[in-house]
Amino acid sequence: MGGGSRMSAPIVSKKSDESKPAESLKRVPQTKPFTLAQLKKAVPSHCFQRSLLRSFSYVIFDISLSIIFLSVAISCFHLLPSPLTYFAWPLYWSLQGCILTGVWVIAHECGHHAFSDYQWVDDTVGFILHSALLVPYFSWKISHRRHHSNTGSLERDEVFVPKPKSRVPWYSKYLNNPLGRGLTLAATLLIGWPLYLAFNVSGRPYDRFACHYDPYGPIYSDRERLQIFISDIGIFAASYVLYQIVMAKGLAWLICIYGVPLLIVNAFLVTITYLQHTHPALPHYNSSEWDWMRGALSTVDRD
Ligand SMILES: [Zn+2]
Repeated sequence: MGGGSRMSAPIVSKKSDESKPAESLKRVPQTKPFTLAQLKKAVPSHCFQRSLLRSFSYVIFDISLSIIFLSVAISCFHLLPSPLTYFAWPLYWSLQGCILTGVWVIAHECGHHAFSDYQWVDDTVGFILHSALLVPYFSWKISHRRHHSNTGSLERDEVFVPKPKSRVPWYSKYLNNPLGRGLTLAATLLIGWPLYLAFNVSGRPYDRFACHYDPYGPIYSDRERLQIFISDIGIFAASYVLYQIVMAKGLAWLICIYGVPLLIVNAFLVTITYLQHTHPALPHYNSSEWDWMRGALSTVDRD
């Protein structure tokens, strides 16, 4: 299975010579072009240095901007003439969504121990930031690390694992048209992230129901279960704060200031990871051909 499942049927260029392989397949790594040691050597050494000060400056910058946008929305929007509010709120949602995506990514870096030299600082910052965005920090950190350790593996990658033909659902042929694809894309952007966390949608197959909130689920080993409980406590705490806000201000208020920006954050991160792992040029390998370097190189990656 040369280049993984996406290569099982030869893809040909429609524009030019039908017998030539598509341009995208030329990028599929057939051999290892360099070793991990060579790759590391090519990266400037300062890129491996973690700076607590610089990392915290990003957190403070992003959170300050977020608070400024929030303050403007809360204190000024009700003063605007009503037609203008139809522009002001979408502008707020877009800006807040972008900034909070930055916060989300900082928490992701904490999960990779890239924030500082201190593991406890990284986990504390990551736990607070991700919980505030309703991400179970340790739960996802663990499965996400496994994704980086198994990228491009048909058997062990954690997410965006292409299904073999035998596991493609019967209804998918009805969705393979412009309307179906549009609806699928919209649903993926809107609810793909919570569906993955809660039901392992698009994740790797497990022998039983897999859920990021379940400490006893098949995703986690015995020594990881306590961290899943802690992640759940973070989600409960954040949910309790949101509940108190609903009681004080109402659900519509919370949806306007927090709910819609959070949906934008989720859509951003699904878009980013979708583009990283589902391009036709990116193969997935079975266990006879996969190795870490080959899988890691088969990614349009930024992290
Ligand atoms: Zn990562």
